[in-house]
Amino acid sequence: MTYDPANIFAKILRGEIPAHKVYEDETALVMMDIFPQSRGHTLVIPKSASRNLLDADPAVLSAVMPLVQRVATAAKAATDADGIRVAQFNEAAAGQTVYHLHFHVIPMFEGVEMGAHGRNQADNDELAALAGKIAAQL
Ligand code: 5GP
Repeated sequence: MTYDPANIFAKILRGEIPAHKVYEDETALVMMDIFPQSRGHTLVIPKSASRNLLDADPAVLSAVMPLVQRVATAAKAATDADGIRVAQFNEAAAGQTVYHLHFHVIPMFEGVEMGAHGRNQADNDELAALAGKIAAQL
């Protein structure tokens, strides 16, 4: 399996497609998932090109995990969530749909089931507001 630079996250990283950005530095971009599985569903995307965890440079993983932790903490505070689920899928059989490494940070609320994966598009204004709230907690 090879990396395809035409994938949607590569286009977002190159600025060819807009995104509700939460944070960006030289190693990673953090943005809202446009088909969120819960309120505040955020994606942490290393800039380095890899399909997923299986072909990623371990140095990239070392650099990005502290950011995943920061985003998890910030998303929990910003949404007043009861818990946070971190997910990461490798290849179609495991549920991966976009073939550029990313980590899902999904706020969870007591008594609320997580929504379907990649199904219901969120309101743009709501995503923009959530991106601002999470960014303010980082
Ligand atoms: P995967 O299934 O590869 O683990 O996750 C891909 C995620 O990207 C899904 O949760 C899906 O909702 C999200 N997604 C797909 N297309 C776009 C897009 O154009 N913009 C953003 N922000 N998220 C997207």
